[in-house]
Amino acid sequence: NASSLKPHVAFLASPGMGHITPLFELALRLLTQHNFQVTFLVITTDSTVAQYNYLHATPHPDLHIVDLPPADMSGLLFDDMTAVARLCVIVQESIRSLRSVLLSGLKNRPKLQAFIIDIFCTGVFDACKDLSIPVYSFFTASAALLAFSLYLPTLDREVEGEFVDLPEPIKIPGCNQIQTHDLLDQVRNRKIDEYKWYLMHVSRLSMATGIFANTWHDLEPVWLKALEIEPFFADIPTPPVYPIGPLTKRIESASDGNADTKEVMAWLDRQPKDSVLFVALGSGGTLTNMQLTELALGLELSQQRFILVVRTPSDSAFAALFTAGVDSDDPRGYLPDGFVERTKEVGLVVSSWAPQVAVLNHPSTGAYLSHCGWNSTLESIKHGVPMIGWPLYAEQRMNATMLSDEIGVAVKMPVVGERGETVVVGRKEIEQVVRVVMEGEEGRKIRKRVKELEASARETLSCGGSSYEILAGVAESWKRQGCGMTTRTCI
Ligand code: UDP
Repeated sequence: NASSLKPHVAFLASPGMGHITPLFELALRLLTQHNFQVTFLVITTDSTVAQYNYLHATPHPDLHIVDLPPADMSGLLFDDMTAVARLCVIVQESIRSLRSVLLSGLKNRPKLQAFIIDIFCTGVFDACKDLSIPVYSFFTASAALLAFSLYLPTLDREVEGEFVDLPEPIKIPGCNQIQTHDLLDQVRNRKIDEYKWYLMHVSRLSMATGIFANTWHDLEPVWLKALEIEPFFADIPTPPVYPIGPLTKRIESASDGNADTKEVMAWLDRQPKDSVLFVALGSGGTLTNMQLTELALGLELSQQRFILVVRTPSDSAFAALFTAGVDSDDPRGYLPDGFVERTKEVGLVVSSWAPQVAVLNHPSTGAYLSHCGWNSTLESIKHGVPMIGWPLYAEQRMNATMLSDEIGVAVKMPVVGERGETVVVGRKEIEQVVRVVMEGEEGRKIRKRVKELEASARETLSCGGSSYEILAGVAESWKRQGCGMTTRTCI
């Protein structure tokens, strides 16, 4: 049959929407624009409803979603584990079955032309070692973080003590500086497991046949240029880097049966153009009780329209990382007394999870108060929405600084202290920043800049644009290696 003639690629993403989304969007592009068949392997341990719904929303005859057998995690996960260590253990245990799935489970499908994984799945290099399947990494964060990560083994050799204690910013050849207070959580304490896991995975990036990056030249010109011309992790050769972004989640449909989606979209339909501030802190972000109270009261003081996505407060900034979409507490129980009633004319409170892309795509949405996760950042830019940066964890501080100081599409909320620690911001300050972005000159400036990048994002993904052409080039090379087919057309 026709399907069996199509070249075949496989994907494996570590758990969490932040990793799954870009890999799945790449899979859909290969299916629909380049005529591939795709096996998308899923780690089911800890998976969420949001993840399941997303993966199964777009059935396609050449898309095979295959669950890896659930791994036995007994005795391996602990409450005090960092998010990265937990993720790495889950992935490590889950891919123990990968070899047998590849050898027996997929034996009726054509040979794989490529296997595409994210940064935490580097165990796949071993599983595929003698199967002659080229393995590509899809780095789902910024080119800036990719550059830092490729340079990390060098830093690890050369720097004694903690990177956060260095008197100067980090300088990577050919790149912009990184302030030590913005360094990602994974490298802030070199003694803990999280650092060791991260260093191990990034050291193995050099084993990839190529590295896809979810970015494009207009967004991160300096970093991408450095990645393309500098063999800068000195003694280890860098695989070719392919910027193919921004690949982001498609717009959630109002008819997908989700009551929240319908309610949110109907509410937005009733608001004036560019008038609503969308407040959401990603798939995992949670605030402390005190900070959530200040945020709510700051929004109220600003007198702007808003959609506020809230979760049960927690002292851990990523408390919801593995449970996104399933927080069932009533927000009235933890928001300030009377807040929901007092703001009901201008605000909508949504519990846990909003149809984020649909909201960002709606003409009434005027700005996005964001944790600056990379997917959310790309979604905001792709839909031309300026941001207020409220970074919480992982590499979000780096992203927030780059968005405000380098790219010019965000204003930062001062939630990061001099040593990178989280600082509580008061309601007055929140009111002020919100007003600046929604009504002030600075807001107009960043809105103009983000509209330019929105146009550039559209262009780079269209036939003839750099991201489109780079992916088409790699896809062609896979087809040539496979069955000698070339089917170059623009879709
Ligand atoms: N997201 C969503 N609704 C929410 C919160 C998050 O749809 O209420 C999606 C968002 O659109 C994005 C992803 O979850 O695609 C979050 O990814 P990101 O890389 O921004 O951050 P993280 O996963 O680290 O929170």
